[in-house]
Amino acid sequence: MTSATIERANDVIADTYKRFPVLLTRGSGCTLWDDSGRAYTDFVAGIAVCNLGHAHPQVAEALCRQARTLWHVSNLFYTGPQIELAAWLTGKSFADRVFFCNSGAEANEAAIKLARKYFKEAGRPERFRIISMQNSFHGRTMATLSATGQEKVKSGFAPLLEGFDFVPFDDLTALRAAVGPATAAVMLEPIQGEGGVRCPGPDYLKEVRALCDEAGLLLIFDEIQTGMGRTGTLFAYEQCGAAPDIMTLAKALANGLPMGAMLAREAVAAAFGPGAHASTFGGTPIVSAAALEVCRVFEREDVLAHAHRVSAHFRDRLEWLKGRHPLVEEVRGRGLLLGIRLAVEGDPFVIACMERGFLINCVQGNVLRFVPPLVIDAAQIDALIDCLDELFGRARQA
Ligand SMILES: *Cc1c(COP(=O)(O)O)cnc(C)c1O
Repeated sequence: MTSATIERANDVIADTYKRFPVLLTRGSGCTLWDDSGRAYTDFVAGIAVCNLGHAHPQVAEALCRQARTLWHVSNLFYTGPQIELAAWLTGKSFADRVFFCNSGAEANEAAIKLARKYFKEAGRPERFRIISMQNSFHGRTMATLSATGQEKVKSGFAPLLEGFDFVPFDDLTALRAAVGPATAAVMLEPIQGEGGVRCPGPDYLKEVRALCDEAGLLLIFDEIQTGMGRTGTLFAYEQCGAAPDIMTLAKALANGLPMGAMLAREAVAAAFGPGAHASTFGGTPIVSAAALEVCRVFEREDVLAHAHRVSAHFRDRLEWLKGRHPLVEEVRGRGLLLGIRLAVEGDPFVIACMERGFLINCVQGNVLRFVPPLVIDAAQIDALIDCLDELFGRARQA
């Protein structure tokens, strides 16, 4: 990418992202190409978004077919793809009803609003507080950044939305102590993604569920990053022996088209009547048709079984790296939401990998995160491992 292009971008685009000097122009499967024709194997996937890889032929075909048929009408009317998608999602999950929107933050906004409305409708308006986790990430809108447990996301935006309390993740005692007469819900990610690919202990989520039942609280799982097969099952909650009352999805739902969803049990969803909440583009036919095809490809090609196989291989190879290089301190994650915590800063390795044709990213300063398309293969994983092995070997000598 020429410096003139970079200068032009820096003149006209809001300066909210620290970007790499690469202009990506094309993608296919797990490979991306830049404007000079260089290829990269993609272990970022738009941050856990393109689970079926780039430009998936059947999803592209479904999208084009819908583009020639009907793009958008208001939610004042029924449309087929939205209904079929909601039926698929409720058929595969604990939920009975789906509200569609356009992003993760909006899905969490809907969840926060629904939790408050549920207790208002139940005649308990004093219950409006939500307990959230330190180190969590729930989005960048005013409500969702208020729900986020990271100072760097909130800094500069006070006054924040009232009604959020924070406790350490994976600490049931602290959670129990934080529940009060104003508590309405507990909101958390089953695995903290942006927080550094942090998994809780094996019984934690089940115990959180039991605590919520005991105290009459709603349980909200933010599965925006963990959902749609990312952790080895369609939804991460399936592995913890407990289901939430409300779940939010976005990222991978339409494989790269903007879509969010909030799913809820009937008794909870019932608090949202006509006029309570809305979104102009939510569940619009063109995006729903793509998401529906994503769901069908998941079934037709048994994407989960493939992801399960390669994830075991990926994990083994990361453990192998850890055994060889003391600077790799810990292998984290589940399914294809994997990370390694380093004893040193991660950014130089992200850049060195990119120079060698691999896109990865770094969270929390020292955790390299790997969230490739679920259709990645073992040879592509091995090539990345070889690259990291060489880089870690060099770092030791330096
Ligand atoms: C990405 C993410 C969000 C925010 O999604 P946007 O679409 O960027 O608003 C919320 N929660 C989690 C867990 C995420 O990973």
